[in-house]
Amino acid sequence: MQVGDPQGTDAMDVLSQAQAGPIPQVPLSTSGAQQVIVIGAGISGLTSAWFLQQQGYEVLVLEAGACVGGNLQTVRHNGCQFERGPNSFMNNRQAMAELIKGAALEQELVPANADAQRRFIGKHGALMALPTNPIEGITTKVLSWPGKLRVAWEPFVGKANEEESIAQFVQRRLGKEMFDWLIDPFISGVFAGDPHKLSVQAAVPRLYALEKHHGSLIRGAIAKIRASRQQKGPKLDGAMMTFKGGLNQLMTCLAGQLINPVQLNTQVESVSFSHEHGYQVRSGDAIWQAAKVVLAVPAKQVARLIEDLPAQSEAQLAQAQHNLRSIHYPPVATISMAFNRNQIQHPLNGFGALLPNKENKQTLGALFPSSIFAGRAPADQHVVTVFIGGGRADTSSGGVMQMSEADRLALVLRELGGYIGISGQPLWSEESYWPAAIPQYEVGHQQKVAQVDEALAHLPGLYLRSNWRDGVALGDCVENAQALALRVVADDAGEALYA
Ligand SMILES: Cc1cc2nc3c(=O)[nH]c(=O)nc-3n(C[C@H](O)[C@H](O)[C@H](O)COP(=O)(O)OP(=O)(O)OC[C@H]3O[C@@H](n4cnc5c(N)ncnc54)[C@H](O)[C@@H]3O)c2cc1C
Repeated sequence: MQVGDPQGTDAMDVLSQAQAGPIPQVPLSTSGAQQVIVIGAGISGLTSAWFLQQQGYEVLVLEAGACVGGNLQTVRHNGCQFERGPNSFMNNRQAMAELIKGAALEQELVPANADAQRRFIGKHGALMALPTNPIEGITTKVLSWPGKLRVAWEPFVGKANEEESIAQFVQRRLGKEMFDWLIDPFISGVFAGDPHKLSVQAAVPRLYALEKHHGSLIRGAIAKIRASRQQKGPKLDGAMMTFKGGLNQLMTCLAGQLINPVQLNTQVESVSFSHEHGYQVRSGDAIWQAAKVVLAVPAKQVARLIEDLPAQSEAQLAQAQHNLRSIHYPPVATISMAFNRNQIQHPLNGFGALLPNKENKQTLGALFPSSIFAGRAPADQHVVTVFIGGGRADTSSGGVMQMSEADRLALVLRELGGYIGISGQPLWSEESYWPAAIPQYEVGHQQKVAQVDEALAHLPGLYLRSNWRDGVALGDCVENAQALALRVVADDAGEALYA
């Protein structure tokens, strides 16, 4: 039954807010499928919806913004194509491979050029290529001989007894030099975060697992390589990937494959629940009703949306909201710009360059999109995307994140120019300012998330799926979305068993 429909949808049951009296019992749609409302059309929400539809559910996605994709925003500008947010994903997750195959996007994939295997760091004002194999690991000048010997000592280091930050963990296992010149910039590259605050268990669980299960990162890495050699069937090569139309192509394609069109410009304001009617999701004058809801929105939005849900314990719910609000999302600006090739001395023959904290720069690093993927710029131009801000950024008045765009551009050109040799001004530039970019999994994060789950465990059919938990990489989001769909199926099977 559909009694009010300000969005013009006939996709799912919409109840008018203006309707007087008790909300009527709404029958399942004609498909007879179980209904799920997904809030948020970023990669977490859209892929959750897509995997749920594959499992036979009828899904409706509600999105506050004017387009799908959340952080995945591809731009075409003056013959160039670049990304405002994530640039690429790593081909290392089975769920991503299954999604791409299932969505018939295999022909659209663009793997990174061979050169993109090379990554640079800034050291003492110059760029140095990072080692890509064990021989280069021995000969590299990124680490001194004492630094390399300290890394070699790693298998003899014992385990820690308590949760550590990434900085504590890496310095304990691999030494300070390895931390300063390799791990610190890597963490800037993934989280735009401060490794002294991020939890090793929550932020890099695969690294932590090597110590936990093998007692050593080196022994664990060798065991993993051996296991993958013995693995049968097609292997994931770990290459960086995108699509011909950029990352947003994945999002528009998945949205197009959903039976119910995504409802754009629909900011969900509240979610309530009753055992009789299930979940009621409200946006303005519209109310949708379904047995299951997936909240695929940032942590602060989750804190707001769980406000009207019945609490098992008020104190527990308040703690959960506090935990969600306390997850820090520092600001990041990405500045993309094009240059004539002859304006840059460095060949930019790599994925990009990261500037370790030791270099004392505001710029976190730069990607070289036109070197990573074919066809991203005219043949005589380079496109460069610079990252600035993050967990260590100066957000005070007068600090880098409060500067005007023009001042930030000038700063970036000065800092990066010292490493790659820039002459003149870019042909064009575009800044994207992310006021709340990437959630920081700080020490204590896992406990925070566990308390949120505990506070909501009594609500059947409520699922939380977004990048503030279980990984921020695009591959993590897709893997978690697939796992969510399977969990929904398992929960239903369990309910049917006990009915
Ligand atoms: C600058 C930047 C660079 C990055 N680079 C990479 C990279 O190269 N590789 C990589 O793997 N990862 C990268 N990441 C991380 C990755 O992009 C994110 O972790 C991922 O996109 C998060 O997706 P999500 O769906 O969980 O959240 P989001 O993309 O934030 O989507 C949430 C959606 O929910 C909507 N929403 C919010 N509130 C409501 C509401 N009340 N009602 C309805 N809708 C609502 C929002 O409008 C949004 O569309 C980067 C992130 C940033 C910011």
